[in-house]
Amino acid sequence: MQMTEFRRLNTETLRQIQLSFLQWTLLQAQKSALYKNLEIDLMHEDIYSLLDQVPLTTHVDLLKHYPLGAFTVPPSKLLRVHVFLDKKYNMPYVIGYTEEDWLIWLNTIKRIFWVHPPAPEDVFVSLDHTIFRGQNIEEAAGMANIAVFHNPPGNLRNLLLAFHEYRITSFFAPPHIFEKLFSLYQSQKKENSLLRLRLREAFTGGAPLSKEFRELVENTFDITIYHIYGLKEFYGLGLAVECPIQDNGLHIWSDYVFPEVIDPITLERLPENSTGELVLTTLNRISFPLLRYRTGDMVKLVTKTCSCGLVFPKIYLIGKVDAVVKPRGFPTSEKKS
Ligand SMILES: [Zn+2]
Repeated sequence: MQMTEFRRLNTETLRQIQLSFLQWTLLQAQKSALYKNLEIDLMHEDIYSLLDQVPLTTHVDLLKHYPLGAFTVPPSKLLRVHVFLDKKYNMPYVIGYTEEDWLIWLNTIKRIFWVHPPAPEDVFVSLDHTIFRGQNIEEAAGMANIAVFHNPPGNLRNLLLAFHEYRITSFFAPPHIFEKLFSLYQSQKKENSLLRLRLREAFTGGAPLSKEFRELVENTFDITIYHIYGLKEFYGLGLAVECPIQDNGLHIWSDYVFPEVIDPITLERLPENSTGELVLTTLNRISFPLLRYRTGDMVKLVTKTCSCGLVFPKIYLIGKVDAVVKPRGFPTSEKKS
């Protein structure tokens, strides 16, 4: 999908894309050990009728199917494999990507810059260098034709000078870097009165930036900050982003992942526009499809078209479900603490 098509997408076309991609995904998923026993009647023309036949997937399912049980392709077909350690259970889990999957991830991030189109004079820098956050955001910014300034890891001390010299206008930083940047600015602007910043916007994600601190930073630097959402299990940051309307809602790319909300206690699906646990189904991932995956995030899901013109639904982040519901179906004897 190109930017023009993305911005003009209507509800009916989106629904057709979701339906056909979901039917493909349900077949594809059965190639993995995780979903090989699914019995699904694909003849339904309604997305929810299809999803009603699919049980929820949890993070614990990924632990149980380590190392290759969730994959639909052999390791030789994967471009990247990332192993993580679940600190709660002290058990590994793995996520991998074919080349096509990796490109899909970069495209999810690129859409951030379709929602916030760059100005001709824009220069972007990422102040985070992890793959799941800043590194791929930098890569996607380049794909969106934004000039990218690469700041070496750990080089925060000279950063404000670089902002000045390279006329940086836009950057990504996780919340803890925002805090360092803010205190640097407070000390360095007194030392260097010629420091002139041309910043106009910034993006953050990985953890929430408090409302008060966000306003303080926005006012101090005269910028607008937009939140980005993502999960390791679904690529990483870039799955959803705030739009210029700035009502705290983030558009989620529902042609890549289909969102539902469930009651985290009863596990029943809630009607659209309800608040509940976000459950996501990948729609176009080849090697690592996830069906009705419980994200552990409480959100309000709003499906009406946004006044910015985008039909992609919005999620309003409430917090984590962990404090309310314990993971089910995992033998406590396997827990190592
Ligand atoms: Zn919007």
